[in-house]
Amino acid sequence: MSGTYLGMPAFPVAAKAALGNETLRGNLRHATHTIRDKRAKAVAELDDWALLREAGKQIKDHTLRHLDRYLVQLEESVTAAGGVVHWAGDAAEANRIVAELVKATGETEVVKVKSMATQEIGLNEALEAEGISAYETDLAELIVQLGDDLPSHILVPAIHRNRGEIRDIFRDRMGAWGRAAPEDLSDVPADLAEAARLHLREKFLRAKVGISGANFMVAETGTLVVVESEGNGRMCLTLPETLISVVGIEKIVPSWQDLEVFLQTLPRSSTAERMNPYTSMWTGTTDGDGPSAFHLVLVDNGRTDTLADEVGRQALRCIRCSACLNVCPVYERAGGHAYGSVYPGPIGAILSPQLRGIGSEVDASLPYASSLCGACYEVCPVAIDIPEVLVHLRERIADRGGKGHRLEKAAIKASGWVFDHPKVLAAGERAASLTRKLHPSRVPGGAAWTDSRDLPELPAAPFRDWWKKNRGEKNRGEENRGEKNDQGGKNNRGEGTAT
Ligand code: SF4
Repeated sequence: MSGTYLGMPAFPVAAKAALGNETLRGNLRHATHTIRDKRAKAVAELDDWALLREAGKQIKDHTLRHLDRYLVQLEESVTAAGGVVHWAGDAAEANRIVAELVKATGETEVVKVKSMATQEIGLNEALEAEGISAYETDLAELIVQLGDDLPSHILVPAIHRNRGEIRDIFRDRMGAWGRAAPEDLSDVPADLAEAARLHLREKFLRAKVGISGANFMVAETGTLVVVESEGNGRMCLTLPETLISVVGIEKIVPSWQDLEVFLQTLPRSSTAERMNPYTSMWTGTTDGDGPSAFHLVLVDNGRTDTLADEVGRQALRCIRCSACLNVCPVYERAGGHAYGSVYPGPIGAILSPQLRGIGSEVDASLPYASSLCGACYEVCPVAIDIPEVLVHLRERIADRGGKGHRLEKAAIKASGWVFDHPKVLAAGERAASLTRKLHPSRVPGGAAWTDSRDLPELPAAPFRDWWKKNRGEKNRGEENRGEKNDQGGKNNRGEGTAT
């Protein structure tokens, strides 16, 4: 998989830098809280939400189990409808196929519908290297592209920008890419949208080639589906003469009946809408209506490796709604760029290391970018148990070894020996309690855990001594006679007795 943000450090370093950016944290907090509250209300409207969630999970699991069969069926359906299917094993192959298809049309410009898959494979950069300009037409993607920036959210790629920053980007950069923004452009949303509309309209009317992804592909008819909120997607899908769709192989559903489930869960989970404003569907080509040539590039790029992992494969159920990002306390503070991938947040922490492997420092750090609070699992409309996969990936990383893990293993081995020898353990506990005033509040050597937390204070006496004194044989008779138990009298904070 391509799509690693070049030069991006591992998550802890990138997150620490992001935490120092107050504007970023303010923008993220405002945006994620607004979306998450709206989503909760939209989901609460449906009595059968839990059933829809379970249905979505089962449809995806069934499809993934029989992916080989459904992919062949999809290829046959698309071909029968007048489309051409191409298979790409990795990012380089997918980019090569798309570049050749564009060059065959004689064009040097393409318009794009927002697509995670094309970002994942680094398509824009690959096309640029071939002398082809790719114009993003989704409003947020346009902001990212004009600002020479990187997306930081699945659904709202420019979530880290506020209105003032967007106005400045439009004013300073639009002219270099096409129709310029007015000099006196304000930061009122309607004015910003109008500037983008006029800028993009020129591109739509000129473009002969459109590039899209797809939210779903229906195997039984070869139909592709894009759901979006702005209408720019529909322009890209219908106006050009050639349409090239680049889609991950896991985006398939067997039938239209299955699609029905996701068309209910996706909008409520992503934009908190009851249904999507624009749901575009196309099946091959139709004479005199829309593009006359349609190519579907099916991309693996690490997906079959992910499918081979019994625990990790559930990440392939993802429908990219971004609900898990909006509730994640880590994402809210660190922002999307810290994840070093086009897939940020909880889903990125389990998807990127599986698609790209855990060989790099960035990817090996991602499964630790979580507090394991489980909020992501609660909101996921296809019930991906993200904490389970995070722990599973941490295990794989730990099994790989390395200095830190050797020390950890030695410490656990030593602890095992101590727990096997109760007298040594008791002596150690007493010594620790007696010297407790001398203990530092942080682990020496700058252990990461205590960089942001104080170590809990030890009690004045070990628990086993407290038990012997208060609950031992000699006191049991008194308790049985109903005498008051004074355990909580002065030890709520561990003072005077053990906890
Ligand atoms: S993991 Fe679940 S909640 Fe997160 S983006 Fe994917 S489908 Fe949505």
